Amino acid sequence: MIFKVCEQEELRRLFDILAADNTVVGPVQTGLDRNGSALNAFKPVADYTNLNLGYTTTKLSAKSYFLPFRESLASFQIDGNDWQKTVDYHCDRPIVFFGLHACDINALNKLDKVLMGNTYPMPYYAAKRKNMFIIGIDCQPQPFCFCRSMGSDTVLHGFDLFITDIGNRYFIEIQSATAYNILARIKTRPPEEVDHLQYMAIAAHKNKQFTSRVDTTDLTKILDMEFQSPVWKQWGDKCLGCGTCANVCPTCYCYGVEETVDIGLRSAQKVKTLYSCNIVDFAEVAGGHNFRSERHTRLKYRYYHKHRGFVEAYEESLCVGCGRCGEACLAGITVPEVIASVRGEES
Ligand code: SF4
Ligand code: SF4
Repeated sequence: MIFKVCEQEELRRLFDILAADNTVVGPVQTGLDRNGSALNAFKPVADYTNLNLGYTTTKLSAKSYFLPFRESLASFQIDGNDWQKTVDYHCDRPIVFFGLHACDINALNKLDKVLMGNTYPMPYYAAKRKNMFIIGIDCQPQPFCFCRSMGSDTVLHGFDLFITDIGNRYFIEIQSATAYNILARIKTRPPEEVDHLQYMAIAAHKNKQFTSRVDTTDLTKILDMEFQSPVWKQWGDKCLGCGTCANVCPTCYCYGVEETVDIGLRSAQKVKTLYSCNIVDFAEVAGGHNFRSERHTRLKYRYYHKHRGFVEAYEESLCVGCGRCGEACLAGITVPEVIASVRGEES
């Protein structure tokens, strides 16, 4: 890893250089919530002053740029006596993500394992993922963040640059050769001891700010032991089966595929739509049998996939602790409370 330091004004120059040839997507304030706190979302940004780099967690993650909620996979058209098929990869222009938090970069790294692994890589995802430049930015923990418990409060790979505000200047971690070359176009300097000390002081202060935690010690074993625990029914009775948690989650990737054919049989489309394992027909199969017709079995399945099955397959959890699902859940179901109850603890 190579480190540099730049003055704050240089970040604007970096933005302008990148925006000249790329679509830049970053955090933008979109309004205020009912408590007067800023609401933020990832949007294409043409002007540096529209970026809100001190943003708090967005409601929706950056997932929509890699795994859109609805995406055309292919379309078919009869032209004369021939079929024409169009495969839609949707990757016109490189995307620069300017200001992703560590948890969201970790989420992408997890999605990569599933969607770009060796067995069945998903070309639609891979085409977008390979055509992007990621600038990470440090953040301050919110009351619902438990990324530290999940080891996702920092990130070691999956980005080109990572910047930390250390007062009136930025500490920059450089991961890629592309980033190194682009940084040569702005004014930077090697960090000095005072910069290292300031970086470490900020990291130590941040670590003390976490108020939400999940005890992951032996969690896979405990989940195996507590598969029949009555707490699953208690949480299931609260759950509305709405699927919002999966929609906002940066690591949920399940989807359904629907094929539509026009009434004249001249054209057809194959469309992928993200889906949630909490929705009632998620496990319904041909013939109408539903393997998880009860809400608590579906809620339990989501937790076992995130914290048990994925760990077995990849030796890490599929949850980055961003807290979005708990924030968005109308029933007030949060990961820290569910896991604490399974462990027999008060949350
Ligand atoms: S846990 Fe909450 S957000 Fe998720 S399906 Fe149930 S009610 Fe909806
Ligand atoms: S399960 Fe919840 S806390 Fe974990 S990554 Fe998904 S949205 Fe974030």
